[in-house]
Amino acid sequence: MTKFSVVRSLFSARISDARFKSHLSASLIASRKVRFSLIGMRFFRLGLMLGWMGLAHDAAAQSAEPPSGLSSAPAQAGAAVAESQPPPAPEPPIGKLSPLGKVPDWTLLQAKAARLTRADFEKAWREIYAEVNGPPPPWEVSEEALVVPISSGAEPARLPFRKVTDEEEDLPPRVWRRAATLPPLAGRPVLSDLHICLDPGHIGGKWARMEERYLSFREGEAVCEGDLTLLTARVLAERLKALGAVVSLVRDQPEPVTKVRPAELQNTARALLAESGFPTPQVSYEGLVGDAKLLTVQWQSEKLFYRVSEIHARGDRVNDQLKPDLVLCLHLNAEAWGAAETPQFSPQNHLHVLVNGCYSRAELLQQDVRYEMLWRILEGIHEEEIPLATAVVEGVARSTGLPAYVYTTPNARRVGDSPYVYARNLLANRIYRCPVVYLEPFVMNHEETYRRLLAGHYLGRTLIQGRLQTSAIEDYVRGVVDGLTDYYRRKRRP
Ligand SMILES: [Zn+2]
Repeated sequence: MTKFSVVRSLFSARISDARFKSHLSASLIASRKVRFSLIGMRFFRLGLMLGWMGLAHDAAAQSAEPPSGLSSAPAQAGAAVAESQPPPAPEPPIGKLSPLGKVPDWTLLQAKAARLTRADFEKAWREIYAEVNGPPPPWEVSEEALVVPISSGAEPARLPFRKVTDEEEDLPPRVWRRAATLPPLAGRPVLSDLHICLDPGHIGGKWARMEERYLSFREGEAVCEGDLTLLTARVLAERLKALGAVVSLVRDQPEPVTKVRPAELQNTARALLAESGFPTPQVSYEGLVGDAKLLTVQWQSEKLFYRVSEIHARGDRVNDQLKPDLVLCLHLNAEAWGAAETPQFSPQNHLHVLVNGCYSRAELLQQDVRYEMLWRILEGIHEEEIPLATAVVEGVARSTGLPAYVYTTPNARRVGDSPYVYARNLLANRIYRCPVVYLEPFVMNHEETYRRLLAGHYLGRTLIQGRLQTSAIEDYVRGVVDGLTDYYRRKRRP
């Protein structure tokens, strides 16, 4: 089980650290498993504040994090919690923001609301945006409107539903365009007029080690996810343009989009650690490993930089400048590889695609997260995103032959008909205000895949591990092009 599920399973018991402690006898406290669960509580709070659930991006983020002493404890910790049956903990204030989150303008949502009927809204919530068997969301649904709390001092937002009798043309406009509303093809290439934004995941270059996306099994060689996603984006951009698309890259260098650097985030990191029950953290992680490293100001401020500030900066670029019809988030997956200095190969190799959804109540208690999710529901982004993601991932499945990854954690749920498609709440697929297809093909530390990735992008086949093999990057690109072509050929007007 992963660290993620440790914190998540602890949360599901919904008790506070303090209340839990008060329920424990001295002998229980002395036991190893309970000590683990107390640390787990604090990790949960820290995870929530840092948006672990919303930000952990790859399946790799669950599994390829530094090894954790917590990972052996969840089942026992959960059992200890259930036996003690403490009362639920008080929830955080309803106006609280996620780390580095901005106060949203709720009046903008009011105009969106008229797009969905109550039935449409409830179906989308139940089948895509809610967790499977999750607790109720923090809002009320009446016959005419959704009533959403903003913060303790403010009037709740009242978002009226569309009446079944309202005409389609009266709906509020969207910035992005569905396949069906693009201009007719009239004999032109299949992606004509379509604006596709490519988001090469991570930063790469000299930042790859900091962002824990640097994998090397021998001196002088390495695969860095941020460099490979940029390479994939550059090759893909040319193919998509040849099919008529307008293509933009949210980053085109191995450099951050955000202007903020970790040193400027140290105070935020300290505050988050203090709030999580670690008021006197160590500053540097030099010489530390495992969870001790995670609890330093340095590690937390770096994470805020490359995983939170960076994605917010990309969101601003996508939403305010580029305004595309869709975003393709390009990633490569990994299985747990252990310590960066002594990585391990994995026999697994797989593929999946993420669409936005599967929000926990804890995530929705954050005001900006609640707002961003409702924006997506009320614009009906899922109506385009899920079939589009399905077509794209089926294309990649054909070109790579990879089997579907299977989530066993409650932070993701299957949606639609394809075994490759999961809904999950990530910062990137939440804040981009258009359909987002978030791709996770290949396990970078699968030995044959690692060697294919080391060979970079090439056409034809080359000898790798005694076999003539195609380029993994080329297979990735061909699959995406094939999937997009298939989707827009079916959905566009001729
Ligand atoms: Zn990634």
